[in-house]
Amino acid sequence: MKKTLALLLAALLTLSACGGPSGGPAEDSVDADRSFSHLGLQCCDTENTLYFIAGQTICYVDKDTGIGGPLCGKPECTHDGPDCDALLPDGQAIGLSYYRGRLYWCDDDPLNGCIYSMAPDGTDRRAERALERELLPMSAQNERVVIHRGYVYLSCVKGGIVDGARRNSLYVCAFPLETDGDGFVILDREVAGGSDVAVQPWGDGLYIVGTSCVNFDSDAGGEPPEQVLYDFSVLRWDAKEKTLEELCHNGGVPFYSVKELWVAEDGITFCGITPSVADIWHFDFSTGELESRGPFEEEPNCQAAVWITDGLLTGCGPGGYIVIRDLQGETLVETTFPTGEDAGRWRLCGADAGRVFFCSDHEGISIIAVPLGGGEIKTLCTVKTDRAV
Ligand SMILES: [Zn+2]
Repeated sequence: MKKTLALLLAALLTLSACGGPSGGPAEDSVDADRSFSHLGLQCCDTENTLYFIAGQTICYVDKDTGIGGPLCGKPECTHDGPDCDALLPDGQAIGLSYYRGRLYWCDDDPLNGCIYSMAPDGTDRRAERALERELLPMSAQNERVVIHRGYVYLSCVKGGIVDGARRNSLYVCAFPLETDGDGFVILDREVAGGSDVAVQPWGDGLYIVGTSCVNFDSDAGGEPPEQVLYDFSVLRWDAKEKTLEELCHNGGVPFYSVKELWVAEDGITFCGITPSVADIWHFDFSTGELESRGPFEEEPNCQAAVWITDGLLTGCGPGGYIVIRDLQGETLVETTFPTGEDAGRWRLCGADAGRVFFCSDHEGISIIAVPLGGGEIKTLCTVKTDRAV
């Protein structure tokens, strides 16, 4: 019990240290808020407010009171017409971020890529910069957009046709946000089918982890071998020196996807996904070793629904099951949120000082706050939308 309490306090202190005075990024911060940057619900936060995209609408909710709704600065607006400031001009958006005191996002349209921003009160929307069309993939999977220290980074598995055959590549490109500089490609590595790529910034660098199948091409068809193996690589982009360094290249790992990662001083902790299990792995910067830390759950209640944020592992399962652990595997919170069996999928939004936020997509987007130190789990808001997370 004492050990649990000590670990919990350590986790709380870690969160406080990482997240500013009350979790959200500072007004002038140019660092990506990695805690809220995940595939799935597009969201970001400030000290008091969580912002997210529900369907085609940018919404906000106060983290304490639950007061929120469409982020529209127009008085008298009913938020249901094309003039509403909360409506996204091109439907979808990725990479919702809080950067230098404003909200930023990228429209998810390869023919009309553009970075937009708006004031956090829903006014003053601007088109910040167009993205060079030739750098935007026409076909992309697991697309992520991160804004960090003056650059917009886009990563995805890029699809394309080469000599009549479908080919994928692990793809990362960057666009300077505050200068007129051209966008440029950081990585475009052709791989066989069954591949994935994920990125996370750290300091002046951007860490890129990629997986690709080494002994089976799912796009080419046929029977897979008994054990399908994957290439795993870790690369570091130095944004100051403009250099790309490969830190690890391992050709025999069992996981096909690195869904979630967390970069720290000593290395990268990530979740490696196989068809049946989500294992936690660690890549050590000093030794270059890749180490398995075992499955997230012995009984796969959560299976692949494992998320990593700010020194915490979180899992969501059917029936509103939620578990939060520290990186050593100690359970901090385990609960069943009373939402019923048909409750939609729960996903992680992110964490601030002492609270972890989740969302579900059951009959709309619901946001809940789970306190780490005990206390009531609160549904902050539910926004009706016909589009899933
Ligand atoms: Zn409105």
